[in-house]
Amino acid sequence: MVEAETEEVEEVSEEMDVTSLPGVGPATKTKLNDAGIFTILDLATAGPADIADATDVDITKAVDLNNKARKKLVEIGRLEPDFISASELLTKRKNISRLSTGSANLDELLAGGIETWAMTEFYGEFGSGKTQICHTLCAMVQLPTDQGGLDGGAVYIDTEGTFRPERLAQIAEARGMDPETVLSKVMVARAYNSAHQELIAKDLGRIIEKNKIKLVIVDSAVAHYRAEFLGRGTLAERQQRLNRFMHQLLRTAEIYNIAIILTNQVQSAPDSFFGDPTRATGGHVVAHTSTYRIYLRKAGKNRIARMIDSPYHPERDAVFMLDEKGVDDPPEEGSGSKRR
Ligand code: ADP
Ligand code: MG
Repeated sequence: MVEAETEEVEEVSEEMDVTSLPGVGPATKTKLNDAGIFTILDLATAGPADIADATDVDITKAVDLNNKARKKLVEIGRLEPDFISASELLTKRKNISRLSTGSANLDELLAGGIETWAMTEFYGEFGSGKTQICHTLCAMVQLPTDQGGLDGGAVYIDTEGTFRPERLAQIAEARGMDPETVLSKVMVARAYNSAHQELIAKDLGRIIEKNKIKLVIVDSAVAHYRAEFLGRGTLAERQQRLNRFMHQLLRTAEIYNIAIILTNQVQSAPDSFFGDPTRATGGHVVAHTSTYRIYLRKAGKNRIARMIDSPYHPERDAVFMLDEKGVDDPPEEGSGSKRR
């Protein structure tokens, strides 16, 4: 799909402008614009609490604005209505595309690849390959759809300072792609703290539309929250903030039909003798908002991935490795045709 070259046409179309909603006059428009909310899409992706915070309209009005925006998106076919028949849902789900990870084994575990319209979380200990998967996906997403890609660009929200353009170039080159082109289609945002990370997430809509983004990565999603909210007394606030962040992402995945990847660390639980050292951080909020969760662990040179708690994925392990192509299948003795 080739999009018309709409160079620097930043004007919001009348249909999409917030003032096209009943009850949004010039005063509310100014408040919303000041908060970075220009379009109906912005209003729908922002949670009511965020709208209220940013604009000092009361929560009832914020909920109302959010609902109206969603209703309008339903009308123009950008969003699901609250009730939809199962057969309609099936048709809608046909719009979901799948992104190859670069490893046939891992793709198989994911029943064909990373889904759009969903959030996929990779968690595991340090060095288990989370960041390498993210780098590889930045290249893979740019491939045409018949080669496992989504023919689009990527946004990389880097909270740990571990994104490396050199590594992405190496992966692209090893996969026969032009490194320069690949690098030019990855927008990187370094998030310095949780508030900054949230601000970046709120601003995703415009970047997604302008750059034909098909993949958004948050590497890692929870680290800042863990570092900033220490002690039991702060847990509730931390989870509330994390919850808002996660839902903002989920709405973004649904409204733009893109894939969202989160990485997450595991809890080392030195305080609890029977604590599960393979537990992801972020608690129930992250566990319940992620559509799919994949646990990664090291096994010598290889890496093992397991799908956790999925209602329709088989519970078994997939083996992959990390090399110059990023994520790759281990060399196999015997037969087995492998995709790229
Ligand atoms: P984390 O889960 O902590 O994000 P990473 O994704 O950073 O882990 O994985 C780091 C590992 O990736 C290294 O230990 C190394 O084994 C592997 N790795 C990184 N770069 C390369 C490369 N160019 N070739 C092969 N393996 C690499
Ligand atoms: Mg990492």
